[in-house]
Order: sequence, then C-alpha cells, then structure tokens
Amino acid sequence: MTITIVGAGLGGLALARVLHVNGIDAVVYERESSRGARGQGGMLDLHSGTGQRAMREAGLIDQFHAIARRQGQDLRLLEPDGTLLLQEDTPDDAPLERPEVDRADLRNLLLDSLPEHAVCWGHAFESADNGLLQFADGSSATYDLLVGADGADSRVRTLLTDARSAHTGQNVVELGIPDIDRTHPDLAAMVGRGNYWVLGNGQSLSAQRNGDGRVRIYLSFYNTAEDWFATSGIPFGDPAAARVRLIDLFTGWDSRFTALIAACDDTVLPRSITTLPVGLTWPSKPGFTLLGDAAHLMPPVGQGANMALLDGALLGLALAAHPDDFAAAVKEYEREMFERTSAAGRQSARIQEILSSPDASRKMLAFFQPG
Ligand SMILES: Cc1cc2nc3c(=O)[nH]c(=O)nc-3n(C[C@H](O)[C@H](O)[C@H](O)COP(=O)(O)OP(=O)(O)OC[C@H]3O[C@@H](n4cnc5c(N)ncnc54)[C@H](O)[C@@H]3O)c2cc1C
Repeated sequence: MTITIVGAGLGGLALARVLHVNGIDAVVYERESSRGARGQGGMLDLHSGTGQRAMREAGLIDQFHAIARRQGQDLRLLEPDGTLLLQEDTPDDAPLERPEVDRADLRNLLLDSLPEHAVCWGHAFESADNGLLQFADGSSATYDLLVGADGADSRVRTLLTDARSAHTGQNVVELGIPDIDRTHPDLAAMVGRGNYWVLGNGQSLSAQRNGDGRVRIYLSFYNTAEDWFATSGIPFGDPAAARVRLIDLFTGWDSRFTALIAACDDTVLPRSITTLPVGLTWPSKPGFTLLGDAAHLMPPVGQGANMALLDGALLGLALAAHPDDFAAAVKEYEREMFERTSAAGRQSARIQEILSSPDASRKMLAFFQPG
C-alpha cells in the first residue's frame, strides 16, 4: 500500500516523519527543485498544544527546543502616533508556550529527519486518477492513498471539493532589514527581541526579529481590492522607489516607523492574503485526503503552521493505528481535523476582523487584556 504525499511543506513533512517513526514508508513529491530553491519566509511561533505536540509525536521535540527562541515571544503593541499600549518581555525562565523558530530551520529539521530519498524534488503534481499520479514533467507514480499537502493553492483539493480560496481584502508588502544590530542599533532596540506591532486605521506595520539578525517587516493594507497591488503605485521592480512610495502611504505615522521602512534592503515582496471558507468539510473519499493550508487556509495570524503540523502528525498516527484500513484512518483523522481547524479558523477570522477594523490597536489591546 503506497502513501503518496504532495507537498514538502511543514504539514506534509510532519506526516512523512510520523509515518517513518512508526515504520511506514511514504513518498513526498515536491514541485520545488531543491530544499533551498525558494526562501521560506520568516518566523513562526509553535504553540505547546498544537505545533509542539506535533513535534513531540514526530520524536523531534528536543531538537525543536534547541533551535527555538524563547525571547521571540516578546510583544510590543503601539499606535501610529508612537503611543506604546503594551509591552510583554519574556523572563529567561518563562515556559516555552509559544517560542519562535525560523521557518527554514524548522523545515530543515523535518527534512533531515527523513530517509534520504523520501522527498522527490522537482515533481509538480498535475492530476490523479485510478491510482496514478501525473506530474508536470510527464512522469507518473502510483498511490493507494494520496494526501494533498500542497498549500494555499492546492491542486489536490479539486479532487475532494469545489471550494476555492478567496481574497480577504488584505494585501501585504514584505520587506526586511538585514543584520539590524550592526546596521541600525537604534531601530533594533526599538523593535526588541520578538514581535512589534503598530496597528492603525486600515493599515498596520509589524516587525519581527529573525534568528539570523534580520528583521522582517510586513506592511498590511486592509479592506483593499484583489488587484490593489496593480493600482497602488508601488513600483515593485524598483525597490528604492517602492520604499519611497510605501513611506508615502504611511504619511502621518510617527517618523520612527517610517524610518524602519527606509532602512530596508531591496527585498520588496507583495503578498495577497486569501482564505478558504471557515468550517470547510467534504464527504470522505477513499484514497484521498488533505491537510494544512490545502484543507483550511486561514488568515496569517499564528495558527496555520501549527494546524498543518498537527494535521500531519495526527494523520500519521491514524494511519499507523489502521495500517490495513486507510479509509477508516482517513475518516478518523478528518473528523477530528474538521472540528479542531474550524475552531482555529473562527478564532483567526475574529482576529483578522479586529486587525482590519477602525481602532484596531485598542481592540487588540482589549483582546490581549480582556476585562
Ligand atoms: C505572511 C505569512 C505569515 C505567516 N505567519 C504564520 C505564523 O506566524 N504562524 C503560523 O502558524 N502560520 C503562519 N502562516 C501560515 C503558514 O505559513 C501556513 O499555514 C503553513 O505554512 C501551511 O503549511 P502547509 O504544509 O499546509 O503548506 P506550505 O507550507 O505552503 O507547503 C506546501 C508545499 O507544497 C508545494 N506544492 C504546491 N503545489 C504543488 C504541486 N502542484 N506539486 C507539488 N508540490 C506542490 C509547495 O511548493 C510547498 O512546498 C503565515 C502565512 C503567511 C502568508
């Protein structure tokens, strides 16, 4: 019986690892040509009950703790005029509730824990029928169970549901300041060791220190159209001019915030934020299932990677418990996954609503400090 996983993201790799730990082989087909072919983005915080639970089931919790950053849990929340609303600094002996980790380090940890040929790079999934997978390069492979772990724009999803991801109204520009301690020590002190959020009316700036000394900056524009990047006047092909335009879009904000934009290097990446309907389900179908963003794409407010990892781990455990009955394993997995990820999706949607609303900073403060 062949278990075939499409997508070597966090969810697909967690599944492959838990299967491996339980003595079950699986093959992962990934469209990227190698592990380093594409940047993996910034930091993730792994929650003790979900993402870290998955790492425990994968037998990798000690290795995870070795690369996790406790101080990454620090948080500063500000208003556009510079008012500091909340500052939480993590004590050195604080529990590792939500430590941060570089996404690339986490992915490398999972990749290194698998047998050498477990991931077949350069295989872009095209279609599947009657136990045969087709790839874009004309090659093919067989499967008894096909798991779609192919992310936000999943192609495998179409085998189970007609649901499509839709634009949330949020458009994000990602920038970054390399080696900030050396190049801009004043800005480094301002951002601190973890997450730095400035929430305005329909716009936000968040900065996040990464393990390699880079600070990633995300500029969000809420309630904007799907084609907003085309009409925004941001010249993405000319990074210096793009920074000038972005500073212009933050007119009226405290000059310390626009100084962060001015200090960025030439990485200027547009990211359009889409989601699947909250609570999406499908009738269980023998031979197919989905996990991670392919199953439940939600706003990027801290749950997606945690859910993807736990999906992978729990599907692996279900398959290990029913090695001769994949259909039963998939049903058991999907029942739990639908309930858990619907709750996470509802919570993420609520946070997204706060972020995109007028007076977002005060509402977020109330969210962090209820009562
Ligand atoms: C800006 C931003 C910030 C975020 N921050 C956080 C955070 O702080 N915390 C958090 O928990 N989540 C966060 N998320 C969400 C998180 O990144 C995702 O939920 C998570 O990566 C999903 O994992 P996955 O394995 O399902 O998919 P992915 O990590 O997207 O992996 C999918 C893989 O499938 C491959 N693939 C795609 N199509 C094919 C194909 N046709 N054939 C073969 N391979 C294919 C891709 O190349 C990729 O390697 C953030 C997302 C964004 C956009």
